[in-house]
Amino acid sequence: MSKPLPAAPNPTLDALLVRLRPHFDAADILTELSQLLPYESDASTSFHERPLAAVFPQTTEQVQVTVKACHDLDIPFLARGSGTSLSGGSMPIAGGLMIILSKMNRILEIDLDNLRMVVQPGVINLNVSKAVAAQGLYYSPDPSSQLICSIGGNIAFNSGGAHCLKLGMTSNHVLGMKVVLPDGEVVSLGGKSLESPGMDLCGLMVGSEGLLGIVTEATLRLLPKPQIVRTVLAAYDAVDKAGEAVAMVIGSGLLPVAIEIMDRLAIDAAEAAVHAGYPSDAQSLLIVELDGPSDEVLPQFDGLLKLLEQSGAQSLKIPKTEEERLKIWKGRKAAFSAVGRLSPDYLVQDGVVPRGKLGQALRQIGVFAQQYGLRVANVFHAGDGNLHPLVLFDNKVPGELEKAEQLAGDILKMCVDLGGSITGEHGVGVEKLAYMPYQFNERDLDSMYAIYHSFDPKQLSNRGKMLPGQSPDIQTGHATADRQHPLERAGVIQRF
Ligand SMILES: Cc1cc2nc3c(=O)[nH]c(=O)nc-3n(C[C@H](O)[C@H](O)[C@H](O)COP(=O)(O)OP(=O)(O)OC[C@H]3O[C@@H](n4cnc5c(N)ncnc54)[C@H](O)[C@@H]3O)c2cc1C
Repeated sequence: MSKPLPAAPNPTLDALLVRLRPHFDAADILTELSQLLPYESDASTSFHERPLAAVFPQTTEQVQVTVKACHDLDIPFLARGSGTSLSGGSMPIAGGLMIILSKMNRILEIDLDNLRMVVQPGVINLNVSKAVAAQGLYYSPDPSSQLICSIGGNIAFNSGGAHCLKLGMTSNHVLGMKVVLPDGEVVSLGGKSLESPGMDLCGLMVGSEGLLGIVTEATLRLLPKPQIVRTVLAAYDAVDKAGEAVAMVIGSGLLPVAIEIMDRLAIDAAEAAVHAGYPSDAQSLLIVELDGPSDEVLPQFDGLLKLLEQSGAQSLKIPKTEEERLKIWKGRKAAFSAVGRLSPDYLVQDGVVPRGKLGQALRQIGVFAQQYGLRVANVFHAGDGNLHPLVLFDNKVPGELEKAEQLAGDILKMCVDLGGSITGEHGVGVEKLAYMPYQFNERDLDSMYAIYHSFDPKQLSNRGKMLPGQSPDIQTGHATADRQHPLERAGVIQRF
């Protein structure tokens, strides 16, 4: 058996290790290629990069020491939670350090009097609700990935979920945080109260995709569980009819806690995966849920059923037990990963259209699918107009990946053209860099560069993500930069 070749000398890594080793157990620093391999991409496996090394801090102090060392040595770094980003957001930076927060997974305080919880960023989303379930409380943002994704990742992407229509996204439920800034300074933003004086810097951090620093503690808002919940599953013979029903429901003045749509392909995938008991003859399904005090919800639910009948639903199914209700949701939450049963490869897209244009958007996606000769499964947070088209393809067929990417890009441009957005909740990451100038004008982008620059003049924190063409030449934070991203230069992504 041949011996493994010794690693090539790397003075940057050596200098970094001199700074880190006194503060970390040896097992919490990874430098071997074989150890780093599992971290080369996130859930969007089309993007890969090799990091310099990875560390697993357990305290704010360890994050601070690490970031300060990167700052002094000019080493780019990124925070990583559970790595479930679907946009390349937690893909490593070439030659950069990964600061993996999965061991910062402690609940630091449960304040029942004020309905707050303070957590480390690696705490898994669902574990927040589990920790206070016995007290009749829960944490409301519920990404479908909530079994595995972390609070830090949720903050960086302002993640949402099926139940965010009524109660808001992550930004509405994170009130305070401790952050290690890109130069190693530690700051506390916001607090336990709903309003803090001065600029809302805590709000600025939410959705900033790890560019402004690393969150090491977060103060979350807890809510009492609603008194009752009523759910209905409506089946339609066409997907755009379900889209139009959404506009009818919201237009009537009702505010459901969730409205979700799945089309035929997504139904097939979810059925195959979890046997949710969805109707076999429907072209699309609408899941609508109301919650709140019973004297409000019960009459509203009667009104909702009448509206759905008027909207042309083929059938309405009302779960009789909590088990049946959870089964409906299990199918919906499994739909993304279940699509893997229908196709060897797929791209998950994430765009938003105004609610009233859902029907039009769905018809147009059908037209694109025909034009490209590819199948597209649709499963989405319809109440927010947040589409999640899944473009199915076979990477082994030459040219299919490129076709799938073009189709996905056409959908994003359609979202902007209809007055919507290129991302609802999965972030820009690297995947949607090329579409930022389609969505934003120069001035908008300049403002974002200026904010990034004021936090991180060296552009070390999650360099190359969210803002196209970041360049160390930017000294003023204004748009003097070469807006071409390295992936654009390599022809991997295109700009419009
Ligand atoms: C099957 C599936 C279903 C999904 N469903 C949904 C959904 O319904 N709604 C939704 O919004 N998303 C969804 N996602 C996407 C993803 O789960 C979310 O974006 C999630 O918030 C990412 O969390 P994470 O811990 O995996 O973060 P990571 O992927 O590790 O990181 C995501 C981003 O956060 C940054 N980051 C991580 N931790 C920190 C920190 N402590 N401080 C600063 N920056 C940090 C990273 O640098 C990166 O930019 C889904 C993904 C999958 C695979």
